[in-house]
Amino acid sequence: MAALFAALLLPSGLIQLLHQPALVPFFFPLVTLMAFFFSLPAVLIALALFALQILLSSLHLSGGIRSFLEIGNPVEAALVAAFLMLSAGVSSLMAERLRRAKETAENSLSVIRRNASAISREAELDSLDSEETLSHYFASMLQTEEEIRELLVAIKHAVFADSANLFVPDREGFGLRSSTEGKGEIEVSGGGVVGLCIRDRKTAAFGEIDGKKTTPGYRKEIRVVSLIAVPILDGSSLVGVLTVDSSRNHAFSDPEKQSVERFAGQLVRILERERIYLRIKRNMSGLRILREESSNLVTSLDRGKVARKLCEGVEKISAAQIFFFTRNGKLFDLIFHNTSRIFENRRVSFDATIINFALENRNRFYVSDVRDYPIPIMPFDAGEVRSMIAAPLIYENRLLGVLVMLSEQVDFLDSFQINLIEILCNQASTSIANAELHARIEKQATTDGLTGLLNHRVFQEKLSNELRRQGRLSGPLSLILTDIDFFKKVNDNYGHPVGDIVLKGVSKIIKETLRDIDIPARYGGEEFAIILPGTDGPGAKIIAERLRNAVREKSFTADDKNFNVSISMGIAVSPVDAKRKEDLIEKADQALYHAKHHGRNQSVLWSGIG
Ligand code: GH3
Ligand code: MG
Ligand code: MG
Repeated sequence: MAALFAALLLPSGLIQLLHQPALVPFFFPLVTLMAFFFSLPAVLIALALFALQILLSSLHLSGGIRSFLEIGNPVEAALVAAFLMLSAGVSSLMAERLRRAKETAENSLSVIRRNASAISREAELDSLDSEETLSHYFASMLQTEEEIRELLVAIKHAVFADSANLFVPDREGFGLRSSTEGKGEIEVSGGGVVGLCIRDRKTAAFGEIDGKKTTPGYRKEIRVVSLIAVPILDGSSLVGVLTVDSSRNHAFSDPEKQSVERFAGQLVRILERERIYLRIKRNMSGLRILREESSNLVTSLDRGKVARKLCEGVEKISAAQIFFFTRNGKLFDLIFHNTSRIFENRRVSFDATIINFALENRNRFYVSDVRDYPIPIMPFDAGEVRSMIAAPLIYENRLLGVLVMLSEQVDFLDSFQINLIEILCNQASTSIANAELHARIEKQATTDGLTGLLNHRVFQEKLSNELRRQGRLSGPLSLILTDIDFFKKVNDNYGHPVGDIVLKGVSKIIKETLRDIDIPARYGGEEFAIILPGTDGPGAKIIAERLRNAVREKSFTADDKNFNVSISMGIAVSPVDAKRKEDLIEKADQALYHAKHHGRNQSVLWSGIG
């Protein structure tokens, strides 16, 4: 403060010494300078002290400072002091503005530096595996919008523009991504200087836009007269256009144009980083689907369930009509689909369809636009389809089935999604192969190899279960024990292999004659057992007779000779004849014995032999 006061007194001393009152205006630049370097209150207090000194001396003392300054009267002195204070105020305001502009530019610079260091970290990304590091990284990425805006504000200040704007490609061509102007104040009109910049991929700078011959390419409330539009190029592709504008004529100099171009270079990096971020984010979500869905796929030993899980998994990768077929010889069975359609015939052939390419090459076949192929996609009408993928499921060189996805969109998958689908299909192949193996082992354990009927062990289990169930329902259950008559003779006359053919033939007749709910089994040798749930004695007798006649009518051939066989049957009914399983089997056996000893080729109810 003392220094300030002294700085004011010094020139006044000089003026007095030189007797040059015309030098009084010299105080104004001095005060302006002071206001730039000291705070406004300090300058004002110093000025007030100075003014007080002048006033006091002009009132009370002749000579003194008054004579120093050579000021005529107190009013004049007060006026000079007031103007000095005003100058100090105005200067201080300007200094404050400049300081703020400097701060903004510094902030933007630190943003740019931060970006640059983030970009250099991208190279390390491959080695990043901790989710925490990644989410931290992503959180910093999310500030893109803010960063772009800060950068635009910095550009605007740097070249004294009215506004700075970033346009990026969108569905309709180019749209405004960010601006220093408020929302909705810039309206893209297309063409103009921005259009020129997009077309030539070169900076376009205009200083006298008249709105007739040349237009800016966008509209705002204040007319744009000067405009610089700089293309933002990422390699060879145009990712945006940066513009700065002004309502002044020839507002921008060449160095300013170069500054805008440098800023555009910073924008490239922000936009590039944003793209990388989005890709990583998408890949991460793809990998999450993979992790979750593949664990789902391995947990089931049921083929139908695996197919459903696979379809649910790929649906998360992309929405589409999804079908899953398993191979059945040369044909395919539709075992799962996510459409609302009802398929009467689920067994199809893919001959002469696009799917066949995938099956023949045993490789996934992606068609980004089906109009390129003048052959049907599916063996049935699939509706509006523009692109599709068929992914065969192969296990150890064996074709197990095929997954088909159909979309109404052209090119509905990118290579990353196709990879994910392939991985899930591979996983499903293994699971389906496991499920089929499991089903085969299960079948071997429960069925008889020669006849395909249930084996003795399963017959015992089924009979126990059915008796329990019928007991609960209070319904009847019949058991038929069947034995082929003089079967030894078949073996003796025609050989054991012919005996086997007869066993298979009789089994087939049994399967075909019975209802779905009836349970036939190979009881042993050439004996069969048939469980008839919910069937009473008379009902069982009808079925037995139908069976006996069917067997009797069947003709077998061996050594160019035709022969027939007959069967004898014993029937016992629960609960009327017996309640316990062993007793029921025993009574059916007694009835069979009775049939054997009363002429064979007949069925006998245990209740009838009394
Ligand atoms: P019956 O009318 O009294 O039943 O006379 P049968 O000759 O059928 O007598 P039995 O039931 O005792 O004969 C069963 C024969 O069935 C004995 C066995 O050689 C034959 N056999 C048992 N299992 C098989 C088989 O899997 N294949 C063939 N080819 N023969 C079998
Ligand atoms: Mg026998
Ligand atoms: Mg027999």
